[in-house]
Amino acid sequence: MSSFIELTDIKKSYGRFDALKNVSMKLEQDAHYVIQGASGSGKSTLLYLMGGLDQPSSGKILFSGEDLALFGDEKLAHYRNTNVGFVFQFHFLLPSMNCLENILLPSRIGGFTNKQVKEEVLTIADHLGVTHCLKKFPYELSGGEQQRINIIRALSLKPKLLLCDEPTGNLDSTNSDKVISLIKELAEKYGSTLVVVTHNDSVACQFPFKFFLKDGILRD
Ligand code: ADP
Ligand code: MG
Repeated sequence: MSSFIELTDIKKSYGRFDALKNVSMKLEQDAHYVIQGASGSGKSTLLYLMGGLDQPSSGKILFSGEDLALFGDEKLAHYRNTNVGFVFQFHFLLPSMNCLENILLPSRIGGFTNKQVKEEVLTIADHLGVTHCLKKFPYELSGGEQQRINIIRALSLKPKLLLCDEPTGNLDSTNSDKVISLIKELAEKYGSTLVVVTHNDSVACQFPFKFFLKDGILRD
């Protein structure tokens, strides 16, 4: 049986610079992975490829046995919207919407009714202690609160794949540990395969399956 996600000989070049060099990896369903590497090692690039936000220069990415390169634009957009949740390194919350509207954006795009999603969102918000933030605008929140809103948005459609790019980048170590535990707990609850990328040892050591990325080269 094929793996949930399978990358074979992935190369990503920007001009003559190779950000990823022959990266191959297999990820199994429901498992939690961390990819550790220094700044500039290619972590974000790899995550964007997995999530279908960008395409490799060569190599193949299979999602449940299906080749992402063969998806048309519409199928790819649908794949991203319904299968993949992203927690970005920098908080991409839209400043003109309140936090609840930000969270419900993917479900609106996917054509889900707000009611279906809202109940679950309220439960997670309560669990993460940010219920009081939902009616506020992103600029009224602290960095830690904004990151929690990001996590709720990424999980709002119960993604099969949850990709987190340095999710604790700007949090102190206590809040960082809390956020990682919550992400793992929620990934478990929704049966999401979790991939976290980080440069941080204390984040990486909280995961059973580790990969290391150095100058675009991956090793176990
Ligand atoms: P990380 O997330 O590990 O810090 P990135 O994946 O962001 O690393 O970047 C890997 C390398 O690729 C870096 O040297 C970066 O400068 C380069 N890079 C990333 N995106 C681009 C781009 N759009 N154009 C040119 N170079 C890029
Ligand atoms: Mg990065």
